This record gives sequence, C-alpha cells and structure tokens, in this order.
Amino acid sequence: MKWQARKDIDWLAVLPAQAAQAVLKTYLQAWKNCWDGRADKPNFKARVRTVMSVDIPQGRDLNITRVHRRWGMVNIPEIGRVRFRWTKDLPVGKRANKENRITGARLVKDALGWHIAFRVQTLQAKPEPHAGPEVGIDAGVNLPLALSDGNHQDHGRPTRTENGTADRDKWLTAEEKAKLLCLERRAAHRKSFRKPKERTSNRLRNTYDQIRTLRARATRRATDWQHQTTTALARIYGTLVVEQLHIPNMVKSAKGTIEEPGKHVAQKAGLNRAISQEARGRTVTMLTYKAARNGGTVHKVPAPNTSRRCSACGFITPGSREDQATFVCKSPDCGWSGNADYNAARNLLHLYRMGHALIPAAGRAVVRRTRGVKPATAR
Ligand SMILES: [Zn+2]
Repeated sequence: MKWQARKDIDWLAVLPAQAAQAVLKTYLQAWKNCWDGRADKPNFKARVRTVMSVDIPQGRDLNITRVHRRWGMVNIPEIGRVRFRWTKDLPVGKRANKENRITGARLVKDALGWHIAFRVQTLQAKPEPHAGPEVGIDAGVNLPLALSDGNHQDHGRPTRTENGTADRDKWLTAEEKAKLLCLERRAAHRKSFRKPKERTSNRLRNTYDQIRTLRARATRRATDWQHQTTTALARIYGTLVVEQLHIPNMVKSAKGTIEEPGKHVAQKAGLNRAISQEARGRTVTMLTYKAARNGGTVHKVPAPNTSRRCSACGFITPGSREDQATFVCKSPDCGWSGNADYNAARNLLHLYRMGHALIPAAGRAVVRRTRGVKPATAR
C-alpha cells in the first residue's frame, strides 16, 4: 500500500523512503497508544507550535567521525555532511560492535537551532540491587524537590516573584528578564497594528522568534538542572518514593466548564504554571530510568492528603495548603510545623512503608538510550 502511494502521489516519491516509513510508524504507534488507553486519539499538529523533527531511522549511513575534541561530522540524507557539537561518548569506529552501536538519529529543531540526538543501543549488565537508603521525594511548589531526610534539592532560584505569584522566568537572569519584558511589549505593540485575518508581519514574527529563543534557553537550563539532580539522587538512594500524579487533570481542573466555572482561576493558573514549569512528570520519568540503571527502584504512592496530613501525628488539617510554605499541624496534641513540601515528602515515604505503593514497572536488561547532542552548525 505504501509503495502504491509513492507511485500515485508525486511529492511522496521525492521523499526518502525511510522518512515516509518513519512517519507511518509514528502514526501507527500513536493509534496503538490510543487503543491501549495511554493517550488520546492522534490529531493534526499545529504548524507553528509543534517541535519540528525528522527521523533518520537507520544508523549505518550516518558515517559519524570525530574531527576534533568538541566536534563531529555526520551524514544526513538529502543534506550531506554536517558538523555537530560532540557532547557525549558515542560508540563509533572501533568502539562500535553488535551490542554497542548507533541505530539511528533524530533531528530536532527548537528556537535555538537544530539538534541531533543519536539512538544508541547498549548491552548493559543487569545492575546489582542498590543497597542505598529509602527516600520520599515531593516535587513541591516552594522547594523544587523536597526529600524526606531533609536533603532538599534546590536550584537556588526564587520560585515566586515579589508579589507572590509563581515565577515563570526563574531560569533567566535579571538582564534576560528585562529583555523578555521589552520584547513582549514590542510584540504586543506590533500586534495592535495587525488587522483581523492579516498575516503576521515579518517584524512581529522576528520579535516572536526572539521571545522563543529566550524561553528555549530557560527550558534548557531547567532540563539541565533536572538531569543533574535526578542523576545524583539515583546514585545515592536505592528506593525512591514519589507521588502518583496526573498533571493534565490538575492543570485543566482550575478552569472548570462554562456551566460550572472554577474558583480562583488566576491563582490556580499561576500555581499550575509553576508545577508545569517544574515539570514533575519529567522528573519522575528521569528518576525511573536512572534508578533502574543503578539497580534502584522508583515507587509511586497515591496522592490524596499527602499535603494536608501531618507527618508527625497523622492528623489531617482540612483546607488547602497549596499556597503556604509552612505546614502547621492543627491537632491540639501535636502542633508540629515545618516546610510544607518536606512534610509531604515524609508522608510519601510513610505511605510506601505502610505498603501503599503501586507496582513498579520491571527493569529491562537491554536499555535503548538516546543521547542528546548540542546544536549542529547547520541552521
Ligand atoms: Zn501533627
């Protein structure tokens, strides 16, 4: 069927066969994810908002060479030889063998330029079970990662602005923040001249691009911190307990419906932004595969009341604590108080010890890893 389509549709035949196959494969996987209940139905991508990416499904034609300590060269189909920044050890040349090789690559474009990520297949020995201590980890609002033993992980950047709202731009420096504000004002000004249905002017698009670049830089800093922190945690601890959380629901719920509008929408939106920015889900994903690599395990425990329950006596203080940095126990006999995120982390560990953990996914011996590589010179 695929080959018929290539005969019938002119532009399809121009594309390399592998690229077309990769698209079909992704599409089929999207439907499989839908049928298995992991995701919604696949729908059309927005041209402007989606990350552009091209897959190179086979590794043998890449012909990767290292030309310098920091630079490598790679063959990209239809483009030619391209230089890229060498940031990770890659199994190329003599170091490549059946068990340890590059099986493909993916080109991704973000606001900072093109990147190439290599798919690397490595045979890893099953790690010895990690004998490290147990820990509860809460991805909090006040502390980026609160740990039940008090070894909190902080990136040293304020999570809130002076007027108490969540600081979306904490990964930017003061100068970059000022620049961003200036650009946003300029964009709003230029947009005000645009008539309905008129196409975006080149100047406005230029300003949007500059805003996107700043934001992409912030995202990259955040991800870098996440990677370093999760790697360190996976090395120290053998058992990591996190909250079972559904971020999309939390973000959606504040808005409510037209019939039943949500309460405190603006405040919750701010909080949700902070949560989304901190990207809890990605932290858990990173922790899970990094722990597995070190012989440790990540356990998820159900979330209700972990933020409202006192970790010293178990008393549930009603009401929301979501905007409070300090937890104060309202039980007349206890009166414990402390960092709210720390309190939640201790509760998570306690729930795990009481046997409330959901069953973790089994680790695999062969791990397929994607190693990120910094931008290539091709833009
Ligand atoms: Zn208490």
